[in-house]
Formats: sequence, structure tokens, C-alpha cells
Amino acid sequence: MENKKIILTGDRPTGRLHIGHYVGSLRNRVNIQNAGDYDKMFVFIADAQALTDNFENPEKVRQNVIEVALDYLSVGLDPSKVTMFIQSQIPELTELAFYYMNLVTVARLQRNPTVKSEIKMRGFTPEDGGDQVFGSGLPVGFFTYPISQAADITAFKANVVPAGEDQKPMIEQTVEIVRKFNSIYGEGTLVEPEIMLPSNSACLRLPGTDGKAKMSKSLGNCIYLSDSAADLHKKVMSMYTDPTHLNVADPGHVEGNCVFTYLDAFCHDEHFGLYMPDYACLDEMKEHYRRGGLGDVKCKKLLEKILNETLEPVRNRRTELEKDIPAIYEILKKGSEAAREVAASTVEDVKNAMKINYFKDAELIRGQAEKFAK
Ligand code: ATP
Ligand code: MG
Repeated sequence: MENKKIILTGDRPTGRLHIGHYVGSLRNRVNIQNAGDYDKMFVFIADAQALTDNFENPEKVRQNVIEVALDYLSVGLDPSKVTMFIQSQIPELTELAFYYMNLVTVARLQRNPTVKSEIKMRGFTPEDGGDQVFGSGLPVGFFTYPISQAADITAFKANVVPAGEDQKPMIEQTVEIVRKFNSIYGEGTLVEPEIMLPSNSACLRLPGTDGKAKMSKSLGNCIYLSDSAADLHKKVMSMYTDPTHLNVADPGHVEGNCVFTYLDAFCHDEHFGLYMPDYACLDEMKEHYRRGGLGDVKCKKLLEKILNETLEPVRNRRTELEKDIPAIYEILKKGSEAAREVAASTVEDVKNAMKINYFKDAELIRGQAEKFAK
């Protein structure tokens, strides 16, 4: 068990996937898959989690399941190598989450920085008119979703979770649950996961095209993997840069400037030979921008070419895949069946460890019979 590499990650079907997902997590998944450096890989569509803050809009979640599946396949995830499944189709995940709830305090959940900022972003307002983050308007389901994430990860005994930086507190929470569970019910039952962050720091939390801290489906500041070349052009050209860089000759800032952050995330030295031979590498181009004399449009044109290099094959593959939608549902169905078997076996381990396996426990039945016979 120890040496096996079991990879698991998921995405919420709240919209199509964007380049933040790509650099934060999808690119790592595809690289691992292609390198064959793993024993099992699970990739899932977190519809049950998406419902925790979209419970009034189930149709949005339902429509986006197929969008996310198409994005997975378009970036190159291969269903013959990766088990792709839909979270809600694995009831064992809910069962695990229920038992894990006993192992987490309300205070611990309230300390989770990602949950805190997401609550604020989603504007769950307290029904009692108070202004505290954890007001009574907050649904319990959303508040406890880190526990449900722990169930997702541990059900597959995953030890590697490729994800963006915002997921760090979730993995920490999962590790705590695993340790507590194992110490109470039996060492070795659950496996501790580790987050796999992108190695490039620009990719940890890719900002939105509006310059906001995170590109996010919920903020409408995304470049989607499925955007057409024309949409990409429009988005790149209207991207947030440096508000103090008014004239080409002005010195510019590259920090907090989306164009340079995206270049950090996507470009290689070879791109300069191909598209902008004036510079040998990004550092040289940044230096010129800082000095003054390099216009935003020129930088944006380079970025557009580089993004297109990644996105064009993804777009083309998607167009092909869209021609046979029933086949995509079939992939998800098969994947969900296979995933369910794995999760069911973990639930069995968990129930054995917790001794809630009454009917299989002959010793218990015999012991009770003897007790009552006295
Ligand atoms: P929502 O707004 O509905 O939460 P989201 O855009 O944040 O959607 P998720 O489905 O929550 O997307 O995230 C899926 C995965 O993608 C996670 O591993 C997350 O860390 C990663 N991710 C999402 N946005 C970014 C980003 N801007 N930069 C890096 N990684 C990201
Ligand atoms: Mg999110």
C-alpha cells in the first residue's frame, strides 16, 4: 500500500473549466497520466459539492456535468487510463462523510481560511441580520464541505491530490481526519493524502483577467479552455495590465500585471525564438517593460499566440467529442461503477474498524447470545 501512488482530484460542475484549472491542476494530471507515473488515477465531477452552494439551481449543476467531462477529455485525460466519475453516483462518499463529521469540531471548520473567504464571496447573509461570517444564513452543507472532501479523498485511499493552492486547507483538514480516525478506530485504516501543487508559483492561484486574486467560474473573469479563438482574442486584448503604464515609453510594472502572470504560467524560452526573437527569454522582456518602451499590445499579442498554442488542440478535440455526447455519459457511467466498487471496499474497512459491521461479526452475536443466556 505504502508505495502505491493513487491520484485523485475533482472539479465542481459550476461552469466550464478555465486556464486557472489547467495550470493549477489539470496540467499536472495530464502529465502524470502521460508519464505513467501512478498506480491509479481518479478524476471526478463534484456535483454534490456544487449543490452545497447551488442547491436552488440544480439545473446549472446538471448542465455543467457534461461541460466538465468534455473539458477533461479535451485536455487529454484518457478514460482508459483514468477513472472518471460523478460524485453523487457514489453513495458511499456520503456515508463516510457522516462518520467523519464526528471527528471535526465546529471551531475547526470555522478556522478554515478557504471556507471563510468562499462564504464571503458567495454572500450567504445571516438571516438574523448580523454581519458575522458564520451567520445563521449559512447552509450546513456548505459549511461542512471540507468534511465531504475528506470522504472523497479517503474513499479511494488517494495519497496524491493535484490541486491549486486554495485546496491546501482542505488537504490539511483531511489529514487531521485520517489521523484522528486511525488513532481511535485502527491504525492503517485510512491513508494520509498530500497536495501536489504546481511547481511554477504563477500557477498556484492564477488571477482573473480583471486582475482579481483568483480566476474563478463564480467571478466571471475567466479564459475558458473552450473559448473560441475570437473570444480569446477579445479577452486578451481587454486584459488588466498596469494602470500606471499609460504611454509606451512609461516604465511599467510586471507584478500584479495579468499579462505577465499568464506569460509566467505558459511561456517557455523557445516561444521567444518562435514569436518574439527580440528577447531570449521572459526575463529580458520583463526588463524592457520595466524600463519603458514596450507597449501592452505587443505583450498581449505574444500572450495570445502562446495561449492559442495550448488551447487550439483542446478546442479541436472538444469539437470532435461534442459529436457523440451519449458516449461521454457512457464513459462517466462506467467510471462511476468502477469508482463505486473501490469506495465500497473502503466503507467496508471503515465499518469494520468502527465495529459497525454487526451482521458479519460472529463473535459479537455469540457474545451477546451468551450474555442473555445467563
Ligand atoms: P467555483 O467558483 O465554483 O468554486 P472554481 O473556478 O474555484 O469554481 P473549482 O472547481 O472550485 O473551481 O476548482 C477545481 C480545481 O481547480 C481546484 O484544484 C482548484 O485549486 C483549481 N483552481 C481553480 N481556480 C484556480 C486558479 N485560478 N488558479 C489555480 N488553480 C485553480
Ligand atoms: Mg472553488
